[in-house]
Amino acid sequence: MVPQNSLQHVRDIRNRIESAARAAGRSVDSVTLLAVSKGHSANSIRQVAEAGVRDIGESYFQEALGKIEELREVSQNPGLTWHFIGRLQANKTKVIASHFDWVHGIERLKIAERLSEQRPFHAPPLNVCLQVNIGGEASKGGVTVTELPALAAAVAVLPRLKLRGLMCIPPDEDDPARQRMWFAAMRRALEELNSGGAGLDTLSMGMSGDFEAAIAEGATIVRIGTALFGERPRATNTAPPQ
Ligand SMILES: *Cc1c(COP(=O)(O)O)cnc(C)c1O
Repeated sequence: MVPQNSLQHVRDIRNRIESAARAAGRSVDSVTLLAVSKGHSANSIRQVAEAGVRDIGESYFQEALGKIEELREVSQNPGLTWHFIGRLQANKTKVIASHFDWVHGIERLKIAERLSEQRPFHAPPLNVCLQVNIGGEASKGGVTVTELPALAAAVAVLPRLKLRGLMCIPPDEDDPARQRMWFAAMRRALEELNSGGAGLDTLSMGMSGDFEAAIAEGATIVRIGTALFGERPRATNTAPPQ
């Protein structure tokens, strides 16, 4: 049985995604809901999975591994896609390369090279996004738009990775027009790479407080935690480790 409130939260978010997509003249299928479950239990993930969510995002590898293990059955049937959205450390790349389907926060070639080397040979290529520090904030990871083409070109040729697109955590803004401004800059950065033939299809942007603005500017993956699962328990309810 799916608890009523998980079902309702998933429905509410899906409705909001659909309205935002429609307002932007986009198909609702062009936006993937990534449920960000850091700080929440495997059981919470099971509940949103039963409500039809397939993509799960985690930020801390140790916490994630326990849940991936616990949800092994659900993961295989009907199938969950695991996304690592946290900060990457060089000594953790091996576990991440073998347990996740996507990695969103690539900001250094060395990390990408390690992930490519360590991706198990029997697994499909690891999907990756490059993180852009679109607001140029010292507290956040990611490369500048200027550094982007060189990193994209170098990552694109790594054999066991599939470069899918870009990811960002923009500055906190309450005003939707300001939110859109950052997301528009991301869209232009993606278009610029694609005009050079990069063939990227993913913009991972938009969180609980700004996903509608992100969809208006072309987000294909919105990463939603709080609006889906409620507030995170205190220990992890801090700013994302980016
Ligand atoms: C925690 C986190 C999210 C989800 O944030 P909410 O505001 O709870 O929706 C999205 N992306 C990243 C990278 C995160 O760390």
